[in-house]
Amino acid sequence: MVGIVVVSHSQALAEGVVTLAREMGGSDLALEAAGGLEEPGVLGTDAERVRVAIERAMSDDGVLVLMDLGSALMSAEFAIEMLGDGARVKLSEAPLVEGAVAAAAAARSGASLEEVAAEARGALAMKASQLGAEEAPGAPAPAEAAPPADAEAALAVRNAIGLHARPAARFVEIARGFDAEVHVAKAGGGPPVRATSLTNVVALGARLGDTLLVSASGPQSAEALDALRALADEGFGDGLAVATPAPARVPVAEAPATPEAAPVAGDVLTGVAASGGVAIGPARHLRAPAGPLPERAAEAPEREREKLDGAIAAARDAIAADRVAVAERAGAAEAAIFDAHLALLDDEAMLEPAHAAIAGGATAERAWHDAAEQVADRYRALDEPLLRERAADVLDVGQRVVGALTGAQRSGPAEPGIVVAGELTPADAAGLDPALVRGIATAHGAATAHAAILARALGLPAVVGLGRGLLAVEEGTPLLLDGDAGVVQVDPPEDMLRDAEERRERAAQRRAAALERAHEPGATRDGARVEVFANLGKAREAAEAVELGAEGVGLLRTEFLFLDRPELPDEDEQVQTLRDIAVALDGRPLVVRTLDAGADKPLPALPMPPEANPFLGVRGIRLALQRRDVLATQLRAILRVAAEHPVKAMLPMVATLAEVRAARAVLDEAREATGIDTPLEFGIMVEVPAAALTAANLAEHVDFFSLGTNDLTQYTMAAERGDERLAPLLAGPQPAVLRLVRETVAAADAHGRWVGVCGELAGDPAAAILLAGLGVTELSMAPALIPEAKAALRAVDLSAARAAAESALEAEDADAAREIALSLL
Ligand code: PEP
Ligand code: MG
Repeated sequence: MVGIVVVSHSQALAEGVVTLAREMGGSDLALEAAGGLEEPGVLGTDAERVRVAIERAMSDDGVLVLMDLGSALMSAEFAIEMLGDGARVKLSEAPLVEGAVAAAAAARSGASLEEVAAEARGALAMKASQLGAEEAPGAPAPAEAAPPADAEAALAVRNAIGLHARPAARFVEIARGFDAEVHVAKAGGGPPVRATSLTNVVALGARLGDTLLVSASGPQSAEALDALRALADEGFGDGLAVATPAPARVPVAEAPATPEAAPVAGDVLTGVAASGGVAIGPARHLRAPAGPLPERAAEAPEREREKLDGAIAAARDAIAADRVAVAERAGAAEAAIFDAHLALLDDEAMLEPAHAAIAGGATAERAWHDAAEQVADRYRALDEPLLRERAADVLDVGQRVVGALTGAQRSGPAEPGIVVAGELTPADAAGLDPALVRGIATAHGAATAHAAILARALGLPAVVGLGRGLLAVEEGTPLLLDGDAGVVQVDPPEDMLRDAEERRERAAQRRAAALERAHEPGATRDGARVEVFANLGKAREAAEAVELGAEGVGLLRTEFLFLDRPELPDEDEQVQTLRDIAVALDGRPLVVRTLDAGADKPLPALPMPPEANPFLGVRGIRLALQRRDVLATQLRAILRVAAEHPVKAMLPMVATLAEVRAARAVLDEAREATGIDTPLEFGIMVEVPAAALTAANLAEHVDFFSLGTNDLTQYTMAAERGDERLAPLLAGPQPAVLRLVRETVAAADAHGRWVGVCGELAGDPAAAILLAGLGVTELSMAPALIPEAKAALRAVDLSAARAAAESALEAEDADAAREIALSLL
C-alpha cells in the first residue's frame, strides 16, 4: 500500500488531518503526521521530522507527501534529499485535507503511487460538484465512452447517507479488485464514470433511494458486479437505512405552541400521540447520569484501549440481555432494534475516531463519548427526518459504553408513576419495570422513535415531543397523560382526574368484556353474520390472532417474506411459511395477498428506479406483471398449500380488467406447472377508485373483493397516507369512500360475490357498523382490535346499521359519519 505523509506548520493540524484520513484509509494504512517544530506548540516545519515520517510510511509502493504552506514544501524537498531516495516519494500539490482523505481511500484500495497522487489532485472536485461549482481544479477528466459492457446491474442505494466518502471508498476498493473495467452512473444523472476513482464516485451525488447503473467489461465482469451487488445489498458497509412505520397522525392545526417555561398546575402540554391509552400518576424523572463527563488524567494509550475494549464488551452483554428481555415482553421484531445497537459497537465510524483520540492522549470515555457525538451529528444533519431520529440510537450506544467506564447509568423509577425524560432511548425503555411504569412522557422525539415503538409494543401509554418545559415539572407532580390525544395535563384538578380515572376504568372494563366473548362468531345483535378476520404481516402472529378471536385471516401481507434480504424467497420456502400459518389457523380460511411491493414498501431483491410519485408508480400488481416470474412463484406456492388448506389468493392494486386477465394467465401456467387443479378462490383488493367504479365489470372475473381502505382513502381524497398533516382527510369513514364501498357491494351482489374490508377502517368499531350496514360480510383487522369490533357488531341490529350507513353516505365529513354510528352504541 502507498504510504502518506501529512506535513503542516501545526502539529495539531497534521495530526487532525491524519485522524480524518485514517477514517478512510483504515488502520493498516501507513499514515504519518509531520507537523510543527521540536519545541512544543511552535509553528513551523522541520525537514528532519518529515524525513522520519517518510521513512516510517515507506513501502515498496512509495509515499505521497501532502503539505500545507510555503516552507512545508522546502522542508519536504530537503527531507527527500536527506533520504537519497526520491524515486519512491511524490510531493503532491493537492489541498491538504481533501487531498489526504482522497489519497487515503485510494491507497487503501491498492492504487499505485501515480493513481493515489491523481486522486488527491482531483479531490477538490468532490466539493466543487457538491457546491455546484462550474469547473473544479484538477477535476477528473470527463467520462470517456465506456467500452461495450459484458455485464450490467442496477443497484439501489439503501444506506442512510448515500455514497458519501466512506461508502464510496468501499465501492471503489471493490471495483479495483477485479480484472474488469467498471463504470457507474446515477440513474437519471450524467454519463457513466470510471468506478475506480473515489472522486468520480462521490461526485455522482448518489443518495438514499437513488439507483446506480453499473456496467463492466473484461474477464471478471460478472464477479465484479456480483461483489458490488453484495456491497449495495448491505448498504455499502453502512447497513441498510432502518425501516420505520408511518408516523402517528396528529392534525397540525390542533397543535398549539409547546410551552418552554416550567409548567404550573392546570397546564396542558401538547406533544405527539405515540402510544394509546390514559395514564395517571406522579411524575418520575428518569435519573440521568450526574453532570458532565468526569475528567481524569489519561493513562497510557494501550491501557485506555484495554479499558475501552472492556467497556464495549460489557455494553455488548448488556444490550444482548435487553434484547432477550424485550423479545419476551414485546416480540422479536421490536427486539431487533438492539441488533442495530450491537452493530454500532463494531462500527468503524465509532471505533476509528475513538482509537485515534486515545492514541492522541484522550481517556477511553472521552474518546468514545466524542466519537458517538460526531456520528450522532452526522445523523442529525441528514435531510430525512426518520433517519435524523436515529441519532438517539447512536447516543444510546455511546452512553452504554461511557456508563460502563464511569459507572454512571440512567435508572428507571423506584416507585409507580409516569416516566418523564428528555428522550427515552431503547435501553431506557428496556430497563423500565412494567409494574412501576404507568406511562411515558418525553420532551423530544417523534412517534417513530424506537422508544415510542417499544412503548406501543409494551402497551404503555406514551406522549413524546412535549417540549423542554416538561423537564421542569417537579418530581412527584400528579400528571394525567392521554396517549390517544397526545397531551399531558400537569397537576390536573380533582374532577378531571376523577373523570379520567373513570374513563380508564370504563375502557378497561369494555376491553375485558369484549375479550370474554372474543371467540363468539362475528354477528350483529339480530344474528346477521359478519366474519371478523385478522390482518397478518408476519407468520408468528397467526396463533395470537386465533387467541384473540380471529375467524380466519383476511389479508396476509406477504411482503414480510421479501423484506431485508437481497435474494427472493424460493417456492419451497414460501410453501413452508404459508403452510405454518395455515396450520396455526387450524382450518380457518387464509387469504394470501400476492406481493404488494413498490411505493412505501421498497424491496432490496427488486431494486426499482426512483419514481417522482411512488404511490402512483409501479407497485402491487403493476410490478408483479413486470416480474411475472415472482408472481408465478408465489401462485405456485399458494396452489400447493391450497391443495391442503382453505387458502385463497388476492391481487393488490388492481385498476383494470386487463390486469386481472394477465394475472389469471399466470395462475393457469402455475396450475400447469404444479399439476394442481384444486379450486382456488381468486380475488382482488379494491383500493384504486377505478376498481370500485368498474366493479361491475370486474366482478364477473373474480371470486371476491376486499376493500383496501387505506389506499382507497388515499387515492380518493388525494392525500398521502403517511402524511400526518392530512389526518382530517384520511382518518375515519370518509363519506366519499363509503360511496365507493356501496358501489362495490352492489356490483358484487349482482354476481353473487362476497365483499370484505381489510383496510384500517374495518377495525374502527364505529366504521365496522357502517361497513356491515353497507353489506360487507367480512372485516379483517389488526388482531388486537378483533374483540372490540365483534362487541360493536353485537350491539346493533342489521336494520339499524343499514339506516346508519344510509345517513353516513350523506354526512358532511368522516367525523359526522362516525357520530352516526356511535349514537347506536
Ligand atoms: C389497504 O390499502 O387498505 C391495505 C389493506 O393494503 P396496505 O395497507 O398493505 O397497502
Ligand atoms: Mg394497500
